[in-house]
Amino acid sequence: MSDPAAVSEPLLAASLYPWHQSLWQQLAGDQPKLDNFPHALLLSGLAGSGKKALAAYLAQTLMCHAPLPEPHNASLQPCQQCRSCQLFNSGNHPDLYYLSTPEDKKIIPVVNVRDLIQWTVLSSQLLHKKVVIIEPADAMNQNAANSLLKTLEEPSANTVLILVTSKKQSLLPTIRSRCQTLDIALPETAAARHWLQEQGIEQPELMLALAAGSPIKARDMADENAQAVRKMVLDSVLQIASGSNEPVSAAERLFKLTSSKKTKTTRSKAGKNNVSASVSDIIYWLDSVWTDLARISQLQALIDARSFISNLDYEQDLQQLSNRLYLKKLLQLSDSVNKAYFEIQGSVNFNLLLEKLLINWKDCLK
Ligand SMILES: [Zn+2]
Repeated sequence: MSDPAAVSEPLLAASLYPWHQSLWQQLAGDQPKLDNFPHALLLSGLAGSGKKALAAYLAQTLMCHAPLPEPHNASLQPCQQCRSCQLFNSGNHPDLYYLSTPEDKKIIPVVNVRDLIQWTVLSSQLLHKKVVIIEPADAMNQNAANSLLKTLEEPSANTVLILVTSKKQSLLPTIRSRCQTLDIALPETAAARHWLQEQGIEQPELMLALAAGSPIKARDMADENAQAVRKMVLDSVLQIASGSNEPVSAAERLFKLTSSKKTKTTRSKAGKNNVSASVSDIIYWLDSVWTDLARISQLQALIDARSFISNLDYEQDLQQLSNRLYLKKLLQLSDSVNKAYFEIQGSVNFNLLLEKLLINWKDCLK
């Protein structure tokens, strides 16, 4: 059996973001709601809506021995003092089981779900509620999902299953129908901007546009290294367009970023001379700039570009470029980028893939 404690560390980021407040009131705002909590909950929402943090916060509250009313609005929150809260905060709660994709896999295999099912029938160690979080629930393959059905229907007493997904439609209907569903929306732009300012993020409007409205992603994208990577990708695209760089050398320069010390676009502190990127970061920014260009070409006669592009700080350059484009070729290039997201999951030669994309980019220009 896998050891749930060993994988519970990521859950330490339990958080109730401001835009979860009214949902929280409906879901777990008072003691009767906690006492009568549904045994299977599906938390669904776009990437960056804070689903996982909410699931963790909910788990901690459900397992807390004495949840307290929050001073401002009286909604319940974990006490942070009891034995259960202490264990939760240490990442070693014996009554919490976090099931995610194994590190070397993209799916949650059936054997891991069977381990989980065996765990659910054990008694609670702290004689209180037990909580399971499955995230992302859509990573369960069909066998795994089918094997969970009976547990979802008749879970052991005092066990709550929380399934988290950003792809609700790809879950089996039999899974969806056995869960109470809660949809988490992204906050309104003004509220998101306000939250980012509170976090000390500069250029909140730009970061939100880059993150498609998700304040959590926007906060992570404000990282110095992430912005340096974005600038290098966008500058490469512009230099190829102006003829001051060739696709092959631009590809090589971007490829080199992936062999610098491997970091994700999280809040890492990489200096300007030590910019590093993951393969998916580079694809993400290429996608972002070519999507902006395609949108400008198609929509600029109708609406102000600032309302629909991501790279707001490159607006002028992109506007100028949009007059030189073969739109049909650019749309084909966007399809290739979408395929690239899948190709990079396998054993593709990324340098060659970048060369191909950037050569195709040059062909998009008049
Ligand atoms: Zn507590």
